[in-house]
Amino acid sequence: MRREAMVHNTKERTEPWDIAIVGGGATGMGVAVDAASRGLSVVLVEAHGFGKGTSSRSTKLVHGGVRYLEQGNIPLVMSALKERGIMRQNAPHLVHDLAFIVPNYSWWEAPFYGIGLKMYDLLAGKYGFGASKLLSKEETLERLPGLEPEELRGGVVYYDGQFDDARLLIHLAMTAADHGATLLNYCPAVGLMRDADGYVSGVLARDEETGQELRLPAKVVVNATGVFTDSVRQMADPGADPLMVTSQGIHLVFDRSFLKGDTALMVPKTSDGRVLFVIPWHGHAVAGTTDTPVDAPSLEPKPLDEEIEFILETAGLYLTRPPTRADVLAVYVGLRPLVKGEGKTSALSRDHMIHVDTSGLLTITGGKWTTYRHMAEDCVDHAVTLGKLADAPCITKKLKVHGYLENSGALGSLEVYGSDSEAIRTLAADPELGAALDPRLAYIGAEVVWAVRAEMARTLEDVLARHTRALFLNAEAAIAMAEPAARLMAKELGRDQAWVDAQVREFCALAEQYRVK
Ligand SMILES: Cc1cc2nc3c(=O)[nH]c(=O)nc-3n(C[C@H](O)[C@H](O)[C@H](O)COP(=O)(O)OP(=O)(O)OC[C@H]3O[C@@H](n4cnc5c(N)ncnc54)[C@H](O)[C@@H]3O)c2cc1C
Repeated sequence: MRREAMVHNTKERTEPWDIAIVGGGATGMGVAVDAASRGLSVVLVEAHGFGKGTSSRSTKLVHGGVRYLEQGNIPLVMSALKERGIMRQNAPHLVHDLAFIVPNYSWWEAPFYGIGLKMYDLLAGKYGFGASKLLSKEETLERLPGLEPEELRGGVVYYDGQFDDARLLIHLAMTAADHGATLLNYCPAVGLMRDADGYVSGVLARDEETGQELRLPAKVVVNATGVFTDSVRQMADPGADPLMVTSQGIHLVFDRSFLKGDTALMVPKTSDGRVLFVIPWHGHAVAGTTDTPVDAPSLEPKPLDEEIEFILETAGLYLTRPPTRADVLAVYVGLRPLVKGEGKTSALSRDHMIHVDTSGLLTITGGKWTTYRHMAEDCVDHAVTLGKLADAPCITKKLKVHGYLENSGALGSLEVYGSDSEAIRTLAADPELGAALDPRLAYIGAEVVWAVRAEMARTLEDVLARHTRALFLNAEAAIAMAEPAARLMAKELGRDQAWVDAQVREFCALAEQYRVK
């Protein structure tokens, strides 16, 4: 993917696009993949880097949602379990099975959670990842050696999926581009075009790199802006009633020694009635999450002190070595795009919603990362009707995601690139690009060069937060990598030292928010 070519496409085009998508998170990118692979012409604009919003800040689970089972939302659980299976089948280099243990400290927990998780297995049907089973105390500790043994009675093991959210997003962008979609990052929609009857007929966007305005006429405009959904709806109708509410969830990242073994810990009922996960991810342990209502959406939400304390305390109850603030390598925060409803944000439905405003703007919102493909199919079906577009069937159930590679485990830290790892290894033959950027993380210079050359990374933040996950794993190490990574980027992009200095300054200021003091 080359940004210059993408901008060129938008200028050369004389016909309206079939679909213009606003928002480059899981939802928008899923729609781009679905529509482009049906043969429709697609343009997508993202205000920042691809995946900057919620889609890089999830718990990294590809799951049916044990919690939604408890809420009795069986259709959502079944649909998500099916999508979990499809995701692993189409992106095996990025989506893996993971064993989770629910530890039992009271006599009633084993039968209670044992039966619930059998139900979870049952609902997965042919998309099952493995049968849950009861474990003795010894078996539980063998699989989760970091678990607090005092008063432990045993556990229940069950299986779900895990992924790298931002990497999947980037590979979805590449999949859409492979099918002819035009995608632009750093290009916010600043307004909507109207036809003579007042219907929405395209997107006005601003290329942040040049300041130029881009006119993108389209038969259908899809609003996929997550927690910013209402702001785009209000571009079409300033009086539109808000559809969304927002809540934030934080995660703390620790050294892997806090969670020994390859199994995740699932705490089914925390003191605030939610679930808490501690999961192994990229050689670290990630603990989360919280559910705190917020008034206004922002791109860089901040963690609250009480959220940090809550996760430390809850994880500390279950781990032999309770983590402290000093052990936190990174904290990251995401905002849930929730469709308004009754009750607490944690009780609001995770189903997606498709909404057509009287202006003809098609909005898709809510849902989960796990269900992005199904959401996209539903959205493009609606777009085909609304825009009288060519009616080709959806093919994404069987569509391999860019980088698709089976048995990719042997690739080690390059596994997330799948079939592109070969090209990165070739770059890494140059000793300057083969060396680690910081000894605390496995990232090498070749990944920076690849992100710029092939994945449309434009800023240091793109490279260190999403194309690699350095910022999410260890904020201090990411700060240490900033200067060498920016210099490699500048060489690729033809930028000067002033650009390097500005990028490093901006990134380091941002990275401070990912540290806990
Ligand atoms: C804490 C937390 C944990 C989660 N964990 C999981 C999990 O483990 N598994 C799971 O399946 N789901 C999980 N989810 C849910 C999942 O992450 C979200 O449902 C999904 O990422 C939402 O994607 P989206 O594309 O709708 O929104 P976003 O990813 O936020 O994308 C919207 C994009 O629109 C862009 N945008 C906004 N305004 C404009 C504009 N004017 N012009 C152009 N672009 C614009 C933004 O920059 C943003 O990139 C979690 C959510 C949270 C908050």
